[in-house]
Amino acid sequence: MPRFRQFQDIVKLMGVKENIRNVGILAHIDHGKTTMTDSLLAEAGLLSRNVASQARALDYLEEEQKRGITIKTANISLLHKAENQSYVVNLVDTPGHVDFTGKVTRALRAIDGAIVVVDAVEEIMVQTETVTRQALNERVKPVLFINKIDRLTRELRLSPEETQKKMTRIISDFNNLIEAYCEPEFKQKWKVDADQGNVAFGSALHKWGFTLHTAKKKGVKFDDVAEAYQKETYMKLQDTVPLHEAILNMVVRHLPNPSEAVKYRIPTIWKGNLDSEVGKAMVNCDSKGPAVMCVTSIQVDPNLGSIVTGRLFSGSIKAGDQVFLVDAGKKFNVQQVSVYMGAYRETIDHVDTGNIAALLGFDEVKVGETLVDSFCADSMVPFERITYVSEPVMTIALEAKNPKDLNQLAKVMQRLTVEDPNLSTSINEETGEYLLSGIGELHLEIAVKFLHNYAPELEIIVSQPMVVYREMVSKPSPKVLTKSPNKQNLFWVQVELLDEKTISVFESENVDENIDMERVKEVLNREAGWTIAEAENVWAVENHRNILMNQARNIQILKTVKKTVVDGFRWACQNGPLCEEPMRGLKVKLVDAQLHEDPSQRGPAQVTPTIRKGVHGAFLSADPVLFEPVYRIHVTVPTRLVGEVVGLLSRRHGKIFSSVLKGTVMVVDGYIPVAEALGLSSELRTLTSGAAFWQTQFDHWGRVPEVRATQKIGEIRKRKGLSSEVPSARRFIDEE
Ligand code: GDP
Repeated sequence: MPRFRQFQDIVKLMGVKENIRNVGILAHIDHGKTTMTDSLLAEAGLLSRNVASQARALDYLEEEQKRGITIKTANISLLHKAENQSYVVNLVDTPGHVDFTGKVTRALRAIDGAIVVVDAVEEIMVQTETVTRQALNERVKPVLFINKIDRLTRELRLSPEETQKKMTRIISDFNNLIEAYCEPEFKQKWKVDADQGNVAFGSALHKWGFTLHTAKKKGVKFDDVAEAYQKETYMKLQDTVPLHEAILNMVVRHLPNPSEAVKYRIPTIWKGNLDSEVGKAMVNCDSKGPAVMCVTSIQVDPNLGSIVTGRLFSGSIKAGDQVFLVDAGKKFNVQQVSVYMGAYRETIDHVDTGNIAALLGFDEVKVGETLVDSFCADSMVPFERITYVSEPVMTIALEAKNPKDLNQLAKVMQRLTVEDPNLSTSINEETGEYLLSGIGELHLEIAVKFLHNYAPELEIIVSQPMVVYREMVSKPSPKVLTKSPNKQNLFWVQVELLDEKTISVFESENVDENIDMERVKEVLNREAGWTIAEAENVWAVENHRNILMNQARNIQILKTVKKTVVDGFRWACQNGPLCEEPMRGLKVKLVDAQLHEDPSQRGPAQVTPTIRKGVHGAFLSADPVLFEPVYRIHVTVPTRLVGEVVGLLSRRHGKIFSSVLKGTVMVVDGYIPVAEALGLSSELRTLTSGAAFWQTQFDHWGRVPEVRATQKIGEIRKRKGLSSEVPSARRFIDEE
């Protein structure tokens, strides 16, 4: 028996593509996304009306409730009636905090349209810009909701003219984002215009809202709103112009149905042949085509296993179907198909193309996976990888109090990284070092909370957060020789800086070790301007934007040790010689080699450590330098407190590049090293008595000035138990 009365209608509508909308709500933190969502849920009967805006149904994890932020992406299917038609609106909730942008990006793959919520007082903020840009990258069409209009009257006491001006400015700033980030063919079509009805105004807290379209129909004007707040009769507005009606009408009128959207979205998110059977089925949103799903989120349930949520782009899936996961290279039988109703999942018989659904029956699956009908196993091209804007720049070390728990600790850490690909782990069984890296302090704090929830009996010691560094070179190295322990295998190695263009292409295309080398070569040639011959010489890439190229001539015999050479290169890159932090942006060239003829004399033990030694020797001869992660920081602060903020940032080695007056507040933008941002939050709060709003986001790797670098390297070496001095290049290089 389904828990919700409209469930049967929703299931019926899931087969009518024209009446489906897959949408997400995007916003800067605190702009009101959750409050607005709750209002929609209350109307759908999924939440009692008077608890909406307090209960926060989509934030169902306890941790989220306590902190008042949204972490996990949850889904909900809503029924909406407009102009004698019924629609099913699949709403994907996305987190608003900048530490969790990875989750926003994944959710975007599932949706075709987005409601961007902007706080009328704060206007467009950094995070609004980031999420809008990401949406446009995935060809997700936006509409705008300007929230917290009540604050304009009640707190700021703006006149109707001033309110009007503010609205015009927000809309025009929003259109500037579209102008800047949208592809030319959609730019004009996707800009918003209040007169067209794709901008809504309202107060999520008081559950009212309108577009100019609905306002006109109901005879409501901005002046009426101002008056309602003056006379304290504003609660009546939720009956005259209910928020859910304005928002959902805007969604069904202005955002595309899956059939329309896939026509232009598939060519960006999938690079297979559009004329193939699968290609045609996806572009035509064909329920009779082969099943193709893009996995957008995973939750590991201790009893049920992985709950895989994704968007079906072709065909249909029912329990019992055999499907194939392209990246994992494995077949599975689907055990159950369900749809989300807030915190609950309701089982359904089958799911059709164009919808978002959850599946059970998989033990090995990652976010971003492509799931297909098993008969397409051999020919399926996977979806384009989901790109992330942030890097894990902070690490904590975890230690099990009881050594017998180490295995379990490793298991739970693994589970965390499956659920959240923005977390990464590094487990060194030998040294017993268990490291967890994330995007920022809060991100890691929450990961540890989850860890405790998943394994309450596990007692662990958590270190203070540590910043992650990168080791780079400042000039090309000479050609250096490295000999294997048996002196029978000789390699000549050289390193130089990889050009900026290639690095940025690696970033935008998400090139890493797991990508097929043919694809890497194609990207280098097509996007980064490498000649085909140069690209052909690339043997491997490493996750920290390093490349290994082979330029030696005796290629036949070298090929027999290629794998062990690549292992040595990757090993070298993961722990640089300055302080065992990853090396970044290196082009490592194997210039020449002489190998022993007997294969038993050129095994892994002879080759892998030798290559690592040679790469480190070359690296140390190329003026190595330390780089640190740098956040972009964005602070909004009342003008009288600007001095405090500027002083604090400069004490912490921050650099301010813009400060703009917006009404009564100053908006300060700058950069600050991540290491200097530790604990910044509480200091900023104390200094401004909570009056400053601020956001940080990873921006770039910056060179640590020489005065600080030596000290920093010394500190890191000490922490890792290394000798105090950086070894000299000579220790790694052999004589000719
Ligand atoms: P989210 O981070 O975008 O999900 O934002 P929330 O929905 O959690 O809202 C953040 C804060 O703003 C909460 O304290 C809400 O009560 C408040 N808020 C949300 N909408 C409104 C509104 O329309 N008017 C006012 N005055 N406050 C609002």
